[in-house]
Amino acid sequence: MSGVVIIGGGHAAGQAAASLRQAGYERDVTLIGDEPHAPYQRPPLSKAYLKGELSADKVLLRAASFYEDKNITLQLETRATQIDPAHQRVSLGTDQQLDYEHLLICTGSRPRRLNLEGSDLPGIHYLRTMDDVDGIREGMRPGANLVIVGGGYIGLEVASVGIGLGLNVRVLEMEQRILQRVTTPTMSAFYQQLHSDRGVHIHTDTTVQGFAGTDRVEQVLCGDQAFDADIVVVGIGVVPNVELAEAAGLRCENGIVVDEHCRTSDPHIFAAGDCSNHPNPLLGRRLRLESVPNAMEQARVSVANMLGDPKTYAAVPWFWSDQYELKLQMVGFSADGDSEVLRGDMASNQFAIFYLKAGTVVAADAVNSPKEFMICKQLIGKGVNPDDLKNTDFDLRGLLAA
Ligand SMILES: Cc1cc2nc3c(=O)[nH]c(=O)nc-3n(C[C@H](O)[C@H](O)[C@H](O)COP(=O)(O)OP(=O)(O)OC[C@H]3O[C@@H](n4cnc5c(N)ncnc54)[C@H](O)[C@@H]3O)c2cc1C
Repeated sequence: MSGVVIIGGGHAAGQAAASLRQAGYERDVTLIGDEPHAPYQRPPLSKAYLKGELSADKVLLRAASFYEDKNITLQLETRATQIDPAHQRVSLGTDQQLDYEHLLICTGSRPRRLNLEGSDLPGIHYLRTMDDVDGIREGMRPGANLVIVGGGYIGLEVASVGIGLGLNVRVLEMEQRILQRVTTPTMSAFYQQLHSDRGVHIHTDTTVQGFAGTDRVEQVLCGDQAFDADIVVVGIGVVPNVELAEAAGLRCENGIVVDEHCRTSDPHIFAAGDCSNHPNPLLGRRLRLESVPNAMEQARVSVANMLGDPKTYAAVPWFWSDQYELKLQMVGFSADGDSEVLRGDMASNQFAIFYLKAGTVVAADAVNSPKEFMICKQLIGKGVNPDDLKNTDFDLRGLLAA
């Protein structure tokens, strides 16, 4: 009896397997993951798990016994190597083949890699998996020189952990400002100041050209500058894992192209998470997102549609980042705004910035304000008076009814 085959062992895959059983699906559910671990959470990898504050079993999405109890077959350390849509069949690296009624592709993304002189030297790391972090942690010794290539969220989270563990930390960013791809100049300046105050050396407009070292990395080379490095972490973005889908003839364009039901160009195949390029009816455009809420919700929507419950994926994107004692929560895309309104005092490390387009809230960034962030999420799409947003004596809940 063929059932649902899920390719991938991350957030979307784990959620989809659980959702199938929650919905009462009784046929076979098989999850094929190439990592040796049951589905686990990635966000702690650059936060509590890197710090050593969280054990491996606490990072798991669900206890290993969950899959056994729910009769979900986990085939770990196994790669799906081919999809045959005509015969509804997946081939595995083990020569095994699995027939499916529905297939869900959750292959995620992988770190973009540098291809420069010396970039294969030991001591140069990428951060995607639990095993990557285990390798990085070995080099995070107090006093060591940590060089981070890329001033995005992952790089900056690693910087804050590095400072906490007593390393000398340097961030090299090729753009004019850190976080340039993902946030506004105001937020970039705030985070640059925060990291500088904590002792991180940030170099913007600085492009890495290679690495030097005999047996392992010793220096990072940028034009006429060379920075000493005992350990390097590269965080320069990801590329979606679409090769399997592409080879099967599924439409791909910056991700596996799906419709609002997370269905690919083949009616029996769905895709969810980092690997999917999906339409967002609230934003009126297609997106490929790299966030946990997106992966989980797309998994739920895929399952609902497989089981004949026509659900549409229509969520405002949101994300978070933890650096030092600051929790940043973001909703929407700040670049969509034409003005910004500050609520609170940035110097107190507790504030929110709202981004408005023609008087309507399109995005918000909230720092150390989790309660207000819940309201920020609900304000997206609402026309507001900026003076109300600015006024910290004004209860934002008053805007929700409007
Ligand atoms: C260090 C780090 C910190 C992050 N922090 C945050 C955060 O704070 N907040 C947030 O919202 N998001 C965060 N993210 C992003 C978030 O983790 C991803 O968006 C999420 O993991 C996507 O889930 P996914 O299931 O689509 O893919 P993934 O979690 O990448 O899982 C895909 C899995 O499929 C496997 N796979 C690929 N191809 C095959 C194949 N052919 N056969 C079998 N298996 C295969 C991969 O090895 C991988 O295990 C972070 C990511 C990282 C790496």
